[in-house]
Amino acid sequence: MPTIIDGVKLDYQDVLIRPRRSKIKSRMEVDLFTEITFPHSKRTLKSIPIFASNMDGTGTFEMAKALSKHGLLTAIHKYYTIEDWRNFARDNPECLGNVSVCAGTSDSEFQKISEIMKFAPEIAFITCDVANGYSEHFLEYVKKVRATFPNHTIIAGDVATPEMVEALVNAGTDIVNIGIGPGSVCTTRTKTGVGYPQLSAIIECADAAHGLGAKIIADGGCTCVGDIAKAFGAGADFVMLGGMLSGHDQGGGDTIERNGERFKLFYGLCSSTAMKIHSGGVAEYRSVEGKTVEVPYKGDVKVTVFDILGGLRSACTYVGAESLRELPSRTTFVRCARAVNTVFGPS
Ligand code: 5GP
Repeated sequence: MPTIIDGVKLDYQDVLIRPRRSKIKSRMEVDLFTEITFPHSKRTLKSIPIFASNMDGTGTFEMAKALSKHGLLTAIHKYYTIEDWRNFARDNPECLGNVSVCAGTSDSEFQKISEIMKFAPEIAFITCDVANGYSEHFLEYVKKVRATFPNHTIIAGDVATPEMVEALVNAGTDIVNIGIGPGSVCTTRTKTGVGYPQLSAIIECADAAHGLGAKIIADGGCTCVGDIAKAFGAGADFVMLGGMLSGHDQGGGDTIERNGERFKLFYGLCSSTAMKIHSGGVAEYRSVEGKTVEVPYKGDVKVTVFDILGGLRSACTYVGAESLRELPSRTTFVRCARAVNTVFGPS
């Protein structure tokens, strides 16, 4: 007989953050830079803990150059060649401390990160990235990466439940990627019925990771700056964004012009578009679990970055948090039936 979890699990749109009395006079007083030390690598990083996702539309070298100027992070997509990385590392050494090199679990991808790490050991993170982080094989792979790179900060996922967070941390992961199915161009939930409401996943997984001294990334599902604030309030150490950073000059994807309006193509890592571009098509044994959309062209990502940082400072001010680190202890979520007024469309 299947088990049913009866308690309500929540997503970003199910809650608001309750305002509270504050001593902060101005948003300028809020510090978004956060210093974090990782349990296995023992490295310390000071950044604004927001990642551009390792998708073609966001995880580019151009994005890394733009975001690292503001202290944000980029998970670089895995389709650059070793030569591309060599050139990037040579020309932009100041960005290496703000990027992650990403790879799946194949031998060739492992060889590739090993090569890249030889000439760019300053790269901040190695991401072991799979759609489903629940396999035994994946745990073994993470152990192998940890054994090969004892002093590097390792990110691994995605998962959405505490027992798997603990298993990944014990296998050598410093930061666990949390999110099964919340993404803007993800279709896992409709294709498989599998998923976990993202806000509850963050609360439960942060608790498990922090108990072991490890960290989490809230990966996917943020549709507005308020959602990012809720993710940090729920205990996320980092937030990863795809859709919110799509459509910009610095991201990949073709620009389309129609009736005087410009759009950019944005697609999931497991969409048929991505599989056609990178693997020559969709293999017969697997299903497509991502979609392709056209997003309005948004210009320079700098404008969006300022909007995000301004909104986060404001969120901290509303609850009296002087820094992002203080946000969880100042956060009380209130469950609500209607979080935003959409009478004139989405705000
Ligand atoms: P977003 O910020 O767009 O809501 O979510 C971005 C996240 O969605 C990514 O970092 C990644 O974890 C996830 N994602 C990206 N592409 C796909 C896909 O094709 N399928 C699934 N299931 N998840 C995806």
